[in-house]
Amino acid sequence: MTSAHQYSNEWDKLNQQLPKWLEQSREQYVNGKVASYIPELSKAPINALGIHMIDSYGNHITAGETKLTFTMQSISKVFTLLLALMDNGKDVVFDKVGMEPTGDSFNSMLKLELVQPGIPFNPLINAGAIAISSLIAGGSPEEKSERVLQFFRKLSFNDTLTYDKAVYHSEAESADLNRSMAYFLKDNGVLKGNVDDVLDVYFRHCSILTTSSDLARMALVLAYDGTDPITGISLVPRQYVQIAKTFMVTCGMYNASGEFAIEVGLPAKSGVAGGILTMVPGKYGIGIVGPALNAKGNSIAGVHLLTTMSREMDWSIF
Ligand code: GLU
Repeated sequence: MTSAHQYSNEWDKLNQQLPKWLEQSREQYVNGKVASYIPELSKAPINALGIHMIDSYGNHITAGETKLTFTMQSISKVFTLLLALMDNGKDVVFDKVGMEPTGDSFNSMLKLELVQPGIPFNPLINAGAIAISSLIAGGSPEEKSERVLQFFRKLSFNDTLTYDKAVYHSEAESADLNRSMAYFLKDNGVLKGNVDDVLDVYFRHCSILTTSSDLARMALVLAYDGTDPITGISLVPRQYVQIAKTFMVTCGMYNASGEFAIEVGLPAKSGVAGGILTMVPGKYGIGIVGPALNAKGNSIAGVHLLTTMSREMDWSIF
């Protein structure tokens, strides 16, 4: 338990040190690359780095380029998982996706054929998230996508959250691998219905436009087990948030999740547009953007910054 005195020392230290830590981490961008396999993402500023933190009283600390907008990409998979769990319950969801990390890259299909019964290993890899998209309740892809958007708006307390149309079209036009994966899943009996419809829901939620502030706000709800500490509103059942946070620890940072657990020790999810959503459980929600990615697909400067912060503030949950 952190006392009020310790808490204010910690917040003061963060306020003082964060700009310096951020500038040191920013330099890492020279060793990274902006994602280009979705052509529209390659336009992001490679040397940008921004962080937004929120505590349970609604206090904010920000540093760097916090006004930068970017698409959620894989970060959205945490929240579609939550919605699918709320729509269907645990048994139905885990009939279609597993609970284990793969050790492979996020868009790999390798284990789908190697390991029977051919269901995706977990909901945070592309194959798993596509299967999750098919479980979102709704009579049409439009209705499903609208439910996803409304859910994301509720969790971010931002009614203006919407899609980036250019990124959505860019991904839909360049998604041969995800498309082939979806057909494979359909043949294996994992996906029901029309493959294009399922993919449309998936592409849309990946292209929801956000800021580090939105990510921090959504993370705060997870940091407090689904009940927003600022308003007291209960948004997601605690047992589902526990599932999502566990996946964030085991699979959230692609196939660098083990290293991230050792070096940072916080539940986190990254996306290929350079976002990272993380939290200090029971304390803060954190959103980061840094479009230069390392070889594993995580924001190179963002991971560096979180490594410094966790070490300096003694944040690891392990
Ligand atoms: N929309 C991206 C894809 O399907 C998400 C990848 C990511 O952020 O990891 O490739």
